[in-house]
Amino acid sequence: MNIDWNTLGFHYTETDYIVRSAYRDGHWEAPYATRNKYLKLHVSATCLQYGQEAFEGLKAFRGIDGKVRIFRWQENARRMQRSAEGLKMQPVPTDIFGEAIRLALKKNKRFIPPYETGATLYFRPLLIGTTPRLGVGPGKEFEFIVIPSPIGPYYEGKFHCTSFIVNRRVDRAAPLGTGAFKVGGNYAASFRATEAAHAAGYDCLFTDSKTHHYIDECSAANFIGIKKNTDCSADRVQTAPLTDQFTIEYLTPRSSAILPSITNDSLMALARERGYKVTRRKIRVEELSDMQEAAACGTACVISPIDKVYDPDNNRTYHLTDEPGPILTELYQALQDIQYGRRPDTHHWCEVVDS
Ligand SMILES: *Cc1c(COP(=O)(O)O)cnc(C)c1O
Repeated sequence: MNIDWNTLGFHYTETDYIVRSAYRDGHWEAPYATRNKYLKLHVSATCLQYGQEAFEGLKAFRGIDGKVRIFRWQENARRMQRSAEGLKMQPVPTDIFGEAIRLALKKNKRFIPPYETGATLYFRPLLIGTTPRLGVGPGKEFEFIVIPSPIGPYYEGKFHCTSFIVNRRVDRAAPLGTGAFKVGGNYAASFRATEAAHAAGYDCLFTDSKTHHYIDECSAANFIGIKKNTDCSADRVQTAPLTDQFTIEYLTPRSSAILPSITNDSLMALARERGYKVTRRKIRVEELSDMQEAAACGTACVISPIDKVYDPDNNRTYHLTDEPGPILTELYQALQDIQYGRRPDTHHWCEVVDS
């Protein structure tokens, strides 16, 4: 069977194998590949009864040199360990996580899209509680699964913008709840908000659950704002050369309820390298009016620029840009260049695998 890379959409395409490993009697079994995509699960398993489930998302890229690069998978392993601890599950050791990803890649070589297509092989690691238990509690058995899927390019054709609506009606996660963990429950809890936003023709911009004044996250992605600051402080004007009077600031929210995005972390490192000021702090919704560019960021899209944000509660629209702005476009290209092996990987973010 041949895969038609051109019609590959941004959705799940089943591959030959998934990889599984169970935690039983105090240890993880060696990850193994199987063609069977169904689980034999007790109806009372803690994942079904109490939502004990965490997941991850990462990609392998076929580079310009034909080599395959897995992007920062160790960070995904660490984040899944934190999610596991957050839901009282057994964390998957980093070596088991890496072994499972490499095996999933090796067993599904024919699903790694060619470089020219802009498509990637996406991995969805999943961790669930499998102990049958009707009495409330976390259980002792777990299953770790890696589901690979080739996915088409997020931007077919042109890098474009999306519009967001400010949400203050549905909270996706409590300030000290599970928002910082990548768990299915946060998604189920957010569907009322995201579906309402889609029905109105927007993506959903979540505000903090306590005050609803501050920007939290963009649906399932982190928020980035770009501000060009003119530094007018007296001593600065005296000492700074004329060309140095603009500073570019990369702003991203600080909140206990948002998921620490690995894409955002990578973009922050690239922004610092470019001499931009990188600030993580609480960001009020009204501050959108001082931003020249804004975007959502995550593994799926890398960067998704925002053209406007509508705030229905204050009947106000913040216009950012019509077209993706220059700062975020350059950061997008720089990160994609590293992922596709077009630029030196000075941060050692990619693991190059034989394939
Ligand atoms: C996965 C996810 C992100 C993006 O994280 P990346 O590591 O960049 O893919 C952001 N927000 C939420 C809620 C997520 O689940």
